[in-house]
Amino acid sequence: MNKYSGKTVSNGIAIGPAYVMRDAGSGYATGVPVSEPDRVETELVRLEQAIEATKLHMDKMVLDAGVKAGKEAAQIFLMHKLILDGKEFRSLARLCIEDGQMNAEDAVIQTGEVLASKFDETDDEYMRERADDVRDIAREVLNALKDKSGVIEDTAESYPHILIAQSLLPGEVMELDRENVLAIVTVAGSTTSHAAILAHMMDIPMIVSVPLDLDLIEDGTPVYVNADAGEVILSPDVDYIEQAHQSADPVRSALLDLKGRETVSLSGRHVDLYANIASVVDMKKAVENDAEGIGLYRSEFMFMGRLEPPSEDEQYAVFRKLLGMNKDRVLTVRTIDIGGDKILSYADTKGLRGLGASLEHEELLRSQMRALVRASLYGRLRIMYPYVTGAEEVVRANSLFGEVKWNLLSTVGSVTIPQGIMIENVEAVERIDELLPHADFLSIGTNDLTCDLYGINRFSDADGVINDNYENLFDMISRVVFKAHKADKKVSICGEIASRREYTSRLLDTEADCLSVAPAEILLMRDHIINRCR
Ligand code: PEP
Ligand code: MG
Repeated sequence: MNKYSGKTVSNGIAIGPAYVMRDAGSGYATGVPVSEPDRVETELVRLEQAIEATKLHMDKMVLDAGVKAGKEAAQIFLMHKLILDGKEFRSLARLCIEDGQMNAEDAVIQTGEVLASKFDETDDEYMRERADDVRDIAREVLNALKDKSGVIEDTAESYPHILIAQSLLPGEVMELDRENVLAIVTVAGSTTSHAAILAHMMDIPMIVSVPLDLDLIEDGTPVYVNADAGEVILSPDVDYIEQAHQSADPVRSALLDLKGRETVSLSGRHVDLYANIASVVDMKKAVENDAEGIGLYRSEFMFMGRLEPPSEDEQYAVFRKLLGMNKDRVLTVRTIDIGGDKILSYADTKGLRGLGASLEHEELLRSQMRALVRASLYGRLRIMYPYVTGAEEVVRANSLFGEVKWNLLSTVGSVTIPQGIMIENVEAVERIDELLPHADFLSIGTNDLTCDLYGINRFSDADGVINDNYENLFDMISRVVFKAHKADKKVSICGEIASRREYTSRLLDTEADCLSVAPAEILLMRDHIINRCR
């Protein structure tokens, strides 16, 4: 029995046979057939075709990532596509062919390495990790040159296994078969690499920086991974596993005991604990973790990473499925939040954001509203408008919604669907008195509100930039909640700050009615509020 330690990326315990991915992380699968240097023209055409094919494949990856792992995951592949689409990658690869007399494969490998080494050389850890993204992009283009879609070929990984690799690239994580990968162990890698972020969102137990010698591990070797403790054991003995399970069990079963419990703090403050979701997979997790409702379904991910919008029927099928899974609990669907970093290839948002942007594309909003009204017969549906900036746009959206309901009256009858607004910028906070009469409930999007309030963007490390420990943000939330309660309307908090246990007491002080958090956080947060918050 050999025991190793590493850094935990994502928690969980698993046991299974090893599957060692020996060429993972390098960016280039071994055995790439490199053809003889060909005529320059032919190689340039091959390069362009491979880049175009890769962009299409990346569109699919964005969609798959959104469904399997949520918004941030989808953004990784959107970023890959932007890099590939940018001038640098293409012109460097062309130069390698034209001046370096290389074939397309060599040109892509060379380009990947040159661009990656630029990132490798920086002092900033975040930037260094972007080197892996560039290698991943080059790997995808090479796959396209070989006329395959990037799927890892092998049969050894077609049974449930512990995946062991030197390191992994984001694309390699996305292509994993979630059913069969019980856990991931890598020799290199950091907890903040995109591959790690993806594995975390996909809820795969993962440990990085484990000093294993891959040459000494045979496929099929039994491996025990306790990511909670950051340990990996090769060929574990049975007694050890039993003991480890027993010590982990009390924590897990204590949390499971919280299912069905009301979320009330030590001093008797009640709060609804809802989940944020972006896919049917997330909904399953939310139900398993006993979310009391869904406070935010980010519907725009259905629209992203594709060349045309989903049809009304496609959307209807998803909403109906989500409502069916959620039984008698509330499902809050946010209407498409586009603009900013949420780009649609088929709809120019002209610098607008949220509700304002979707009103510019009324046909998209109308078809989504029709799908919502039709699906509303199957559960407790609420809708809310993103990133509102003033009453006039909410009035326009409400009247469009009224018209849609009227047009469907003969098919679905009269339906009541509460309609809320998201407060996500300072302007909306300042105009709260004029907004309140037009909404049934409010949801505060602290992710965007934080950016607007402190003048930062969504990719900044807010903790490192702000210096008031979010006090101005909490004051704003308190002001909004106070006014909303006077108007007899409820407020939920659905930004990431709602998951941060160090701020829970402060959020409860704002008297918000609901916290909406990632599905995996529900029971941990309930435990925290019941046992540690006043
Ligand atoms: C927010 O801004 O806090 C929010 C929940 O919306 P998103 O993160 O989708 O922008
Ligand atoms: Mg937002």
